[in-house]
Amino acid sequence: MNDSVKQMNMGVILCRHCNAQVDTVDTDRIATFYGVCDQPECRELHSRLDVPGVVMDEE
Ligand SMILES: [Zn+2]
Repeated sequence: MNDSVKQMNMGVILCRHCNAQVDTVDTDRIATFYGVCDQPECRELHSRLDVPGVVMDEE
């Protein structure tokens, strides 16, 4: 419905296990987030580790 949406995907979500780019997010500055990609190995690793789904790493 919003045909004036801007493509300002300056944030990127990387897989914490294999560093693949999972997605991009709209941020007003460069930012990197860590999540988990769709690879079965990464899903499995993630399910074993008791870690948050997405954490910020803005250092
Ligand atoms: Zn992965």
